[in-house]
Amino acid sequence: MAKIAIIGSGMGSLSAAALLAAEGQEVIVLEQNYLAGGCSSSYYRQGFIFESGATTLVGLDPNMPLHFLLNKLKISVDVLELDPSMRIYLPNGEVLTRHKNLDAWIAEAERVFGAKNQREFWTLCYKISQFVWETSLRHTSFPPSSWKDMLGLVKNFRFKQLFYARWAFSSMQKLLQKYELDKNELFMSFVNEQLLITAQNHAQEVNVLFGATSLCYTNFGNFYCWGGMIGLIKPICEFIEQKGGKVLLKTGVERVEPLPNPAKGYIIHTQKGEKIAVDKVVSGIPINNTLKLFNNEGLNQSFEQKLMRSEQLNSAFQLCIGFKRSDWQKNIPLHHQIHLPKPLPIINSHSIFVSFSHEDDFARAPLGQGVASVSTHVKNPEKLSDFDKAELEKLIISELEKLKIIPEKDILYFHSSTPKSWERWTQREWGFVGGYPQYMRVKPWQMLDARLDHKGVYLCGDTTYPGQGIVGVCLSGILAYEKMKSDGL
Ligand SMILES: Cc1cc2nc3c(=O)[nH]c(=O)nc-3n(C[C@H](O)[C@H](O)[C@H](O)COP(=O)(O)OP(=O)(O)OC[C@H]3O[C@@H](n4cnc5c(N)ncnc54)[C@H](O)[C@@H]3O)c2cc1C
Repeated sequence: MAKIAIIGSGMGSLSAAALLAAEGQEVIVLEQNYLAGGCSSSYYRQGFIFESGATTLVGLDPNMPLHFLLNKLKISVDVLELDPSMRIYLPNGEVLTRHKNLDAWIAEAERVFGAKNQREFWTLCYKISQFVWETSLRHTSFPPSSWKDMLGLVKNFRFKQLFYARWAFSSMQKLLQKYELDKNELFMSFVNEQLLITAQNHAQEVNVLFGATSLCYTNFGNFYCWGGMIGLIKPICEFIEQKGGKVLLKTGVERVEPLPNPAKGYIIHTQKGEKIAVDKVVSGIPINNTLKLFNNEGLNQSFEQKLMRSEQLNSAFQLCIGFKRSDWQKNIPLHHQIHLPKPLPIINSHSIFVSFSHEDDFARAPLGQGVASVSTHVKNPEKLSDFDKAELEKLIISELEKLKIIPEKDILYFHSSTPKSWERWTQREWGFVGGYPQYMRVKPWQMLDARLDHKGVYLCGDTTYPGQGIVGVCLSGILAYEKMKSDGL
């Protein structure tokens, strides 16, 4: 049995920690915050339970990472499937619904964007996304970084991968050109804003494998977690503790010191000044932060090329609202993406994403009241770490009123967060969130692998393959665990 320190309690690290605990390893999760879950958690304020970040949950369909994890560990999570999950407001005033059923969605897209090539485009995207999901869990040695990984890839190889691999070299922009959809301005702005929330970048920078999967995420099961995302995090933490592991909150890691022979282990120095000797380490915090814990010149140099800087990253501006329910929220989906006619000042973002608590979710708000999270991207958070929030709050609230989403008079309470707030909540460098965005120059096999030092330190979370989102980081945790096993844990 090995003693393993897990740095951070985001969904990436918890996935790895739970799998390790399930097979009897001694797991210690070290979390700097007072709550577990990082960007997928929920916290109490002024009588409401707000989401710390993520509001949409996918990955629970068979073949998908969260389904695999929860099924394997026999953890049950109280969720409700949403269909349709999302409504989109376009800048020209059109409103469209993202139905789960592919034909219903295509009919909706044709109604709003015109019939030309919509069916062909969405049918291909859906096929690619099905391939991606069915392949992701089969290739647990991807991206390869050892000869055993290469063997694993060969063993699990299927000929159809050759057909789909070419989509890693083509951007979504090129695919849209192929179907002459790039000339449809309204459709392009729709695609770009949808890609931004799922792949963190625009059609020119997102390859088709990731882009098609991102665009089709509403065509798979979308779930609401009763009580908020903490309802996903809590049972996993409880599972770890039932298996004899520990989840230590308010215990940040300040430094990781390899023993003179790292094969013999590491000393974890906590921010409280404690020292914990462990055999292995799994870091679930971004690579930018992880490298700082090691302060090792050689290691820094080997990741120099892969490290993204603030200019390439995003943070978020988030407005959390507690409100009195009215007829405006009756029979509407829980999630809304609003594509703004004019970008927001200060942060220059073109869309906002609004998520409601379910009206029967009395754990989050009392009867007759509800909670809404409104979030939007902030590019280059180092440069825009803090700003006057009042102007943005006012504009967003008036947009919600204009679109009949929440009447301003029914707002009971609100607060908002800037990149500075994210930095405080998660300690992530510059408060960047949402992981490493997709960039065409980084092919899937060039993304960060789970092995950090090729000795005893492993990585997971949204800066490692496959990147963003709860389902993505859950897969990264599964891959870290599989690679540790393949390395002889
Ligand atoms: C506003 C917003 C909306 C989003 N919406 C969605 C969505 O709808 N659906 C979706 O799937 N995804 C969404 N995401 C993305 C998703 O939340 C993240 O990609 C995912 O939760 C990241 O998980 P992680 O494990 O990589 O890291 P994190 O969640 O960042 O967790 C890392 C943890 O490590 C802790 N930590 C950091 N440094 C240290 C240290 N030195 N010592 C100890 N602990 C440390 C942090 O406190 C944190 O708890 C959203 C993100 C944001 C910010």
